[in-house]
Amino acid sequence: MSGKTQFTITVFPGDGIGHEVTPPCITLLNKVAEKVGGFSLDFISFDAGAAYYKETGISLPEDALEHAKKSDATLLACMGMPSIRYPDGREIAPQLELREKLDLFAGVRPVKTLPGLPLPLQDERAKNLDFVLIRESTEGLFAGRNNFTIKGEGADEAAYDTQKISRKGCERLFDFAFDFARRRKLKGYKGKVTCVDKANVLGSFYYMRQIFDEMASNHSDIEADQVYVDAAALQMVSKPWIFDVMVTENMFGDILSDLGLGLMGGMGMAPSADIGENNAVFQPCHGSAPDIIGQGKANPTAMFLSGALMLDWLGGQYDNPAAIEAGQLINTAVENAYASSNILPFELGGTCGTDEITQSIMVELDKL
Ligand code: ATP
Ligand code: MG
Repeated sequence: MSGKTQFTITVFPGDGIGHEVTPPCITLLNKVAEKVGGFSLDFISFDAGAAYYKETGISLPEDALEHAKKSDATLLACMGMPSIRYPDGREIAPQLELREKLDLFAGVRPVKTLPGLPLPLQDERAKNLDFVLIRESTEGLFAGRNNFTIKGEGADEAAYDTQKISRKGCERLFDFAFDFARRRKLKGYKGKVTCVDKANVLGSFYYMRQIFDEMASNHSDIEADQVYVDAAALQMVSKPWIFDVMVTENMFGDILSDLGLGLMGGMGMAPSADIGENNAVFQPCHGSAPDIIGQGKANPTAMFLSGALMLDWLGGQYDNPAAIEAGQLINTAVENAYASSNILPFELGGTCGTDEITQSIMVELDKL
């Protein structure tokens, strides 16, 4: 499809502060669409998540899933509440179900610091981080979670999980990572993909690394390098500015993306995208934050930046440069708001809540 101008977006406000950060995000997205022109957004909202499960016994209604499959993209705030669980004790996490059902294999976790915030690393270079972690989201040890086995008896009893790393899974992931790096290179970034694995110890990772090398030679315009996951963890806190695009397996990605989140200063700052061949879900990294519900303290920044990621993806996927420009405008408005208006969110010890942060960002968008 090319040159599409009207996008249908499935929206899940979800649980908790999801209901507080979703409305301002939709207002912002409509505002930027109107400002830039060249595309429009139709939002269709669905109830799903823990509160909905408590009410109905269903966590993700079938019609919502079908709509998510057919629509151009999905915007999801956060789902799950520690106090509401399935009878077997598992957390209610329809966002994981969406990832599986829509085959969203690439988890995109940008690590981009905003100006004016207290950050954990003191080195000046760590104040301007701008790299991306891409996490495989359908395989690895997590893919085998339903095949968990216990074998043996007594002193010989042992539990086993199985790791799956497939050729197809690696090829589509690495292709995605190299294409992603190429798009960044056009914007002035390094154009480098770093494969993170444990190829020195586990055969499945050695296999993954060999496929990475093959794929790297197919994308020779992009620099490729490799690092073991333990060294990657160290480098992410000792010299994180060396990275451009990191790509890794599911569980390593799960862990390292939280490390990346830590580098950004706050839960309310980090957006994410989960992307498949024809579908994508965009959501902030934070959860439903039950401790601050209804207090006006939720930081909407991660939700706004997720909206910006969505516009950027829609523009690339459907050949609409206006949508890409609109995504960039949101990023710039957010950066300018943090640089110029001394926003310090509650979560970082400040006094700025949802309304004030939203207002500062809207004002900056008007100026662009
Ligand atoms: P989940 O398991 O759903 O990921 P979690 O246990 O990681 O949830 P969150 O709900 O993300 O936890 O909240 C962790 C802490 O961060 C809480 O103290 C919460 O208040 C704070 N927090 C999370 N998101 C935000 C936000 N957008 N604005 C302000 N504070 C937030
Ligand atoms: Mg969490």
